[in-house]
Amino acid sequence: MSLIVHQLTKSYSTPSGPLPILRDVELSLAAGEAAAITGPSGSGKSTLLHILGTLDRPTSGTVRHNETDPFVLPEADLAAFRNQRIGFVFQDHHLLPQCTVLENVLIPTLVHPHLRPDDRNAYAQKLLERVGLAQRLNHRPAELSGGERQRVAVARALICQPAVLLADEPTGNLDRNTAHAVMDLILELRQDLQMILVVVTHSLEIAEKFPRQMEMRDGVLHPVA
Ligand code: ADP
Ligand code: MG
Repeated sequence: MSLIVHQLTKSYSTPSGPLPILRDVELSLAAGEAAAITGPSGSGKSTLLHILGTLDRPTSGTVRHNETDPFVLPEADLAAFRNQRIGFVFQDHHLLPQCTVLENVLIPTLVHPHLRPDDRNAYAQKLLERVGLAQRLNHRPAELSGGERQRVAVARALICQPAVLLADEPTGNLDRNTAHAVMDLILELRQDLQMILVVVTHSLEIAEKFPRQMEMRDGVLHPVA
């Protein structure tokens, strides 16, 4: 398993011409590796994460997930690739308020007809146990704390057993202690499941937990010493 980015650029077209955001991004991660990306607001961190997750396309350069360039796939295959291979956690939990915790975790499996309902249920429960929510399966998101909601979002991101977990400011809405607990959990899960983990955070304290730290500056990823 590997995630390799080479000479990646991204520009947005604007009325006054192309606006370069990512100029030359290089990144190489193997299974189990975890990297934190910091950098000023507007520097292109989310743009990069979206491209790594195939939610957006590069202007030039390559992204290879385990030797595969997902952007050559037809749109339907790309969506399947994303669903099976990549998990996302965002700053907002994006849980469905009318669904229970367990149902929320199961939502990504609805497009996996080959998974047996018993198996996905058992795995969802196991994940919820792992994130400390075994007693909350039938609660609605409104009945949970912010930290608990993010734990559900983490379990939902893992239900399809992704090789790559991408998180954009996943602890941005949490208080300091809760942020540390949720990030420690994400780092542990990456270790247990041998996933590639890329986390964007504005907190240097959170970034310091990571074996690899990078800063996005002028459209380039710089290693943090
Ligand atoms: P960060 O996550 O580091 O705060 P973003 O990746 O969200 O930064 O945005 C980087 C820059 O790209 C910003 O200046 C933003 O306004 C611009 N941008 C993001 N998406 C678009 C878009 N769809 N069209 C034009 N500009 C965009
Ligand atoms: Mg952002």
